[in-house]
Amino acid sequence: MTAKNWLALLKGKHQLSLRLFLLLNAFSAGFSMVWPSANTQHLTVPIIMVLVISLLCLFLQLLNKKMLISINAVSLIIGSLWAWHIYTKVSAMPIADLNFLIIALLSVLFIGSISFINNIQAFTASCLPVILIVFWLDQGNHWPQILYSTLLPVIGITIQNIIHQRNDNFTRRLMDKLLKEKETLSDLSMLDPLTGLYNRRGFQNRLETVLTVGTGTHFVLLLDIDHFKAYNDNYGHSMGDQALTHVSAAIRDAVRSRDIVTRYGGEEFLVLLTNVDAEQALQTAERIRQRVYDLKIPHLFNDDVATHVTTSIGLAELEQQNIEEALRQADSALYRAKRQGRNSILSSESLQPS
Ligand code: GH3
Ligand code: MG
Ligand code: MG
Repeated sequence: MTAKNWLALLKGKHQLSLRLFLLLNAFSAGFSMVWPSANTQHLTVPIIMVLVISLLCLFLQLLNKKMLISINAVSLIIGSLWAWHIYTKVSAMPIADLNFLIIALLSVLFIGSISFINNIQAFTASCLPVILIVFWLDQGNHWPQILYSTLLPVIGITIQNIIHQRNDNFTRRLMDKLLKEKETLSDLSMLDPLTGLYNRRGFQNRLETVLTVGTGTHFVLLLDIDHFKAYNDNYGHSMGDQALTHVSAAIRDAVRSRDIVTRYGGEEFLVLLTNVDAEQALQTAERIRQRVYDLKIPHLFNDDVATHVTTSIGLAELEQQNIEEALRQADSALYRAKRQGRNSILSSESLQPS
């Protein structure tokens, strides 16, 4: 995903460079037609083609901004056309004019390096035909001047390219790191910090996956710690937090890893048992109740039930993917379990006959 985004960004950047390249070439071709730098034939076939191709590509890209034109191909075509133009002009001269050759060479290198500072392939494709033709036409007469005019921009762009590459790599690493941190934060925001269980958001997220994949029957358990307000009032809030942590771990240990355990509220938990039947769901609920009971966390103010921490549980089937209805049923079963004396499990009315 990240790499794709990065490549798309890079492609977009390269397409912008191409537009600059086309614009400068159109301008340069137009200028050479009106004010030629040597007094020979100035309206050549290749220079007309450079103007037409540049304007046409620019026009096409303006019409359809998403259109991708092959940068290397266009650079090579335009570079070759310039080489052809230079060849045609020099052929009409009695001897090759050094000034003309240098100006032509520098113009092409200037446009190539300014447009393709970060794309060495396109730079090479646009400049190499001209470099070769200029060396060939000069026949080695002024090779130091021509070599100097060529090497200066080539070395410059190579160094610039290395610097750019480093900057790009740095930006990319930074982006990867930020994205990883974003993922971690997003994970954390799905978990309850005290118990490490899913919070409501995490539950919704997991539920969506279960509902899209699963086909079996699922059950919802709603758990509530008995007389927990009294626990807090008498043992203090931090002892209350510790008790919550232990109860959470006991619930987690009593179910399978694919079941979704959520801290649904202060001392309320929601467990989604996936792909189970009613009997297995009831057995699991009983196992949870027993595990919490077996923790034997002292709670003398729960004495109408036991002298340690207990839970009450409401159970309902998740039917037709309607989680709200399942929760409503589990909640009313939990409410009845509380009224019937706590530390117990009751199923929703629709499950009662079993
Ligand atoms: P019941 O048996 O009817 O459920 O009684 P209860 O006292 O458990 O019910 P109630 O909902 O009135 O009280 C819940 C208490 O849970 C209130 C609050 O003090 C405590 N509680 C909720 N969240 C936290 C928490 O994060 N930490 C601590 N320590 N206590 C919490
Ligand atoms: Mg409660
Ligand atoms: Mg309670």
